[in-house]
Amino acid sequence: MTRGRRWGAAALAVALLAGGCTRDDDGRFHPGAADVGDPYVPGAGNGGYDVGHYALKVRYDPANDRLTGEALLTATATKALSRFQLDLAGLTVDRVRVDGAPAKHRRDGAELIVTPPHGLPAGQRFAVEVTYGGVPEPLPSAELGDGGFRATGDGAIALGQPESASTWYPVNDHPSDKATYDLEVTVPDRLAALSNGVPKGTESRDGWTTWRWSEDSPMASYLSTLVIGHYRVATGTHAGKPIVTAVAAGLPADGPAAASVARTGEIADFLSGRFGPYPFDAYGGIVVADDRIRYALETQSRPVYGPGFFRGAGPNTEVVAHELAHQWFGDSVSVARWSDLWLNEGFATYAEWLWAEHDGRRTVERAFADRYAVTDWSKPSVDPGRAAMFGDAVYQRGALTVHALRRAVGDDAFFRILRGWLAERRNGTATTADFIGYAERTAGKPLRPLFDAWLVGASAPALP
Ligand SMILES: [Zn+2]
Repeated sequence: MTRGRRWGAAALAVALLAGGCTRDDDGRFHPGAADVGDPYVPGAGNGGYDVGHYALKVRYDPANDRLTGEALLTATATKALSRFQLDLAGLTVDRVRVDGAPAKHRRDGAELIVTPPHGLPAGQRFAVEVTYGGVPEPLPSAELGDGGFRATGDGAIALGQPESASTWYPVNDHPSDKATYDLEVTVPDRLAALSNGVPKGTESRDGWTTWRWSEDSPMASYLSTLVIGHYRVATGTHAGKPIVTAVAAGLPADGPAAASVARTGEIADFLSGRFGPYPFDAYGGIVVADDRIRYALETQSRPVYGPGFFRGAGPNTEVVAHELAHQWFGDSVSVARWSDLWLNEGFATYAEWLWAEHDGRRTVERAFADRYAVTDWSKPSVDPGRAAMFGDAVYQRGALTVHALRRAVGDDAFFRILRGWLAERRNGTATTADFIGYAERTAGKPLRPLFDAWLVGASAPALP
């Protein structure tokens, strides 16, 4: 994510909710946990199962803001489950089936609690069908901004980090449970309906058009998006893969927004030269015109950019470089818990430095020195607290750490670490300790003291 403006960090006491415990060593079935125990997103995610695939069919009518949906989730029980929970905020559930049989269900706030007719043994694959509908609303967050599905003047935008998905489909809403997706979205004929992955065509009938999208690489739920409205959509091929870019029709056809996303392929190629092969089956980008979207988000294979990034005279390619870098750092290799977000944002910020140097504007050494001079070392990059998860310590201090690693091990080992890490962890999740361990093994020397000093030390670290 890139914030459009400096975010005022409100003080917040984070409630530490322990994840529920499910015992399956006594031969009995037990309820799945109500969340994954991530204090940055209390209540989000669930325990006891792992989703493999979401097949979503949604219909949205901008005339009354009403969404109707059918979600088919294919999952595997990781514990012996008597019941399990999905995240679903608002909306009304009409019917739930598990493996084709009607299942009891009830709501508890933003949780959908499902009791199948029979217990699900550990290791069993099962299918959950949820039929639902209503007028979606974003999840309010005073300190992070609202996330999720919101109606716009001509359609809707479903977007947000760390939470968004549960406002428009039932989901295990935490990046530790990545899954593949198929989406069919039906909207009035005159509107576009854009999402992640490979376009699978459109079909029109009775004044409504169904747009199909397929994301075959595992995706964290916050990286799923749906953008509906009047857009100029450009479809082509880049490096043998489909590229779909879309700019809101309300923005100029030849303005900075269009000029910036038009360089998506070129910038992705530059990053691929540093990080290794582009990790997904499609490219793209979507620029929305709604001023309430004051950030850009690295939604998988197709980042969404708020309009505020493109108010300058020329293109803004640094924000494009940032969101595209996330396709490797964040999307392909995802955080297992939100306290390690610097693993996404530090590298995406560093990619801005790499791109600016390549583009002839500012060297990486200059960016590093300038940022080092103004850094508040009292604020840690790792586990900064929920209210500070999008703060400078995560982004800028994270990028400083990346460059400190480069200076400590040299260019050759540095880029071997990045490429090797991305290849080894592709389509998975990781923690800070995982990255440090990988860097040490690849460089062949201890690096823990360096990371400690640069990520969390309370005073300015010595330059390596
Ligand atoms: Zn970012």
